[in-house]
Amino acid sequence: MERCPICRGRLDKVTLLCGRCGANLEWAELAQSNAKIVTKQAVASLLQGHLVQAEHLLVQAQSLEDSPFVRQLLGFIRSENRLQDRCITFFNNTGTEHSLFSR
Ligand SMILES: [Zn+2]
Repeated sequence: MERCPICRGRLDKVTLLCGRCGANLEWAELAQSNAKIVTKQAVASLLQGHLVQAEHLLVQAQSLEDSPFVRQLLGFIRSENRLQDRCITFFNNTGTEHSLFSR
């Protein structure tokens, strides 16, 4: 973070104080690094196929820092959920077992 998210003034890289409005951006830096940690956990959950847990972590990451990558992953999981629901509906309508799709 080089610029203050409040006034776009330059930040002192050591103290994280804004030279223009005086805001202390330590909290923002902390939120950013926490967002990265939670995003890593979400990606690990996603790779293990734990979609519900991954979505929960991504929502948490998104609340800490808005990121295009996190938004894309959330969109992917939500479209995956809709696809699963459509598959379950399809199998129900055709009277077929759908234990493969249980969550
Ligand atoms: Zn500022």
